[in-house]
Amino acid sequence: MSNGKIGVTTENIFPVIKKFLYSDHEIFLREIIANAVDACQKMKAVASDGEFKGETGELKVRVELDEKARTLKVIDNGIGMTEEEIDKYINQIAFSSAGEFLEKYKDQIGSIIGHFGLGFYSAFMVSDKVTIETLSYREGAKAVKWTCDGSPEFTMEECDKSDRGTVITLYLDADSEEFASKGRIQGLLSKYCKFMPVPIIFGKKTEWKDGKNEETDEDNVINDIDPIWTKAPSSLKDEDYDKFYKALYPMEDEPMFHIHLNVDYPFTLTGVLYFPKIKERMAVDKHKIQLYCNQMFVTDHVDNIVPDFLTLLHGVIDSPDIPLNVSRSYLQSDANVKKISTYITKKVADRLEDIFSTSREEYEKKWDNIKLFIEYGMLSEEKFGERGLKFALLKNCDGKYFSLDEYKTAVEPQQTDKDKKIVFLYATKPQEQYSFIEGAKAKGYDVLLMDCELDSHFVNLLEQKMENVRFARVDSDSVENLIPKEEKAKPELSDDDRKALEELFKAVLPKENEYVVEAQNLSADEAPVILTQNEFMRRYREMSALGGGMNFYGTLPESYNVIVNMENPLIKKIWEERNPESPLLRQVTDLALLSNGMLKGKALADFITRSAELLKGGEASVEEK
Ligand code: ADP
Repeated sequence: MSNGKIGVTTENIFPVIKKFLYSDHEIFLREIIANAVDACQKMKAVASDGEFKGETGELKVRVELDEKARTLKVIDNGIGMTEEEIDKYINQIAFSSAGEFLEKYKDQIGSIIGHFGLGFYSAFMVSDKVTIETLSYREGAKAVKWTCDGSPEFTMEECDKSDRGTVITLYLDADSEEFASKGRIQGLLSKYCKFMPVPIIFGKKTEWKDGKNEETDEDNVINDIDPIWTKAPSSLKDEDYDKFYKALYPMEDEPMFHIHLNVDYPFTLTGVLYFPKIKERMAVDKHKIQLYCNQMFVTDHVDNIVPDFLTLLHGVIDSPDIPLNVSRSYLQSDANVKKISTYITKKVADRLEDIFSTSREEYEKKWDNIKLFIEYGMLSEEKFGERGLKFALLKNCDGKYFSLDEYKTAVEPQQTDKDKKIVFLYATKPQEQYSFIEGAKAKGYDVLLMDCELDSHFVNLLEQKMENVRFARVDSDSVENLIPKEEKAKPELSDDDRKALEELFKAVLPKENEYVVEAQNLSADEAPVILTQNEFMRRYREMSALGGGMNFYGTLPESYNVIVNMENPLIKKIWEERNPESPLLRQVTDLALLSNGMLKGKALADFITRSAELLKGGEASVEEK
């Protein structure tokens, strides 16, 4: 038996690390199991090298919990360690590297990503005593038992372990009682070890028998040792990807598409990403991408590693090249992380372009569910924005889809204005804007549906990126003026007349809004009065509501243009009478309000009563004839 002092500089760093790393205590299990898995992998390597001649047997890791005694064992049949190796790897390196780590990061420990591996040392976050019993694969090796009670002192002695490998026993401390529970360990295993590359066994499989769950003789293997992302894409079918998605997210709907990532230069990265079905817009859960390092779960917070819009995706990324022992701000500036982020963005764009051009029908069917993601990506990442111009779709009010170029070509003949700009008309609320949409259609125009919360930003982006294209919401002007084809003579009114007209209409319009009254010569069969909202004012208002930063516009009262069609016979009559009490004046104004969905409550009831009166009057005049 030998005694020794662990090679750390600080007298006793155990309490320090316990305090600092409190929230991450649970990772101890991943660290201890990762070591056991490594030991098995190393065994496989020395056997295939020919360095080891005997039988390796089936390499595996077993986790055993004694809830009563509060002990947790991690048992492997990997390479094991000799006394010298324990001395070197555990007594000197493991502890000193943990010490160095703490020394180096003591000021910023709170901002460290929190998923670094302190390795074997992390056992002391939850235990007041740890033992290692181990027998090396080396010929003639003697079994050793190492014991340490959390002080820098340890003991080492020979023991009678006869099978190759290592048993790590944790004597859980009073503060860590929570881990002495089968359910808790089960949960941690499935969080951290679900895809580790060596079978991990926890207890026996159970079976429903005679009304209760009974243990069988079969080992309960908790992991899938070769998950889908480690396989060649050519060996996989769509069903395999769907199955894996279900295993990762049992509660989610089927994904829309998947992307298999596989690169080994200039960095190593594998993974499978999925486009989820976005049901509730903007309420998308952003922590669905899991980051692994050689099949070991690291985190499900990949912000800072992939661009924000990609955090809407689901799936798995596995890369040993993402530094984990660093602060979040450092992560963003890391050269590898930047390359990885660019690579993933490019792959996602490649895949979308591919589906767009080879499976157009399928792409259109899924568009509504991926639209938000693509618009967000195009708005937030310049490169993706450029690529997206090829595969972004526009949908019109009849449910037909077009690529940007297709749409431009389709509407160009009808919808080019006098300044040679192609005008894309759009509706945001087809129910409320129904009469405007129908009016535009009757004129041979097409109307797009832009009802997604990012659309006001998206419309701006497209105006910048597409040459000679201007967007106009279908209710932003009279049909005649939406796409002005030639300069129209304005009605000739004196300043006094203009004022009188404005007062006449303002007297009957709801008081809470602002109005700009304008006389125009539309055709005789166009509506007498049309209420519109200035396209740009409205867009700014919408963007500022979304947090676009232009809050000045957000605070203005709603402002409408009131277009009075001087060619309409009813207006001619109203203008002759100039009577603010005229039911006809109220009626035409209310009709305009009604087609904007702005006639409510008492105003609506008054309108109905007045309509009935006017109809009676109409009948009377018919009878008179
Ligand atoms: P790391 O795994 O990052 O090297 P650790 O502190 O976890 O650091 O482990 C230190 C070393 O101890 C390992 O590199 C390995 O050589 C040895 N070791 C730990 N656990 C085992 C084990 N179960 N079997 C064999 N060797 C082990």
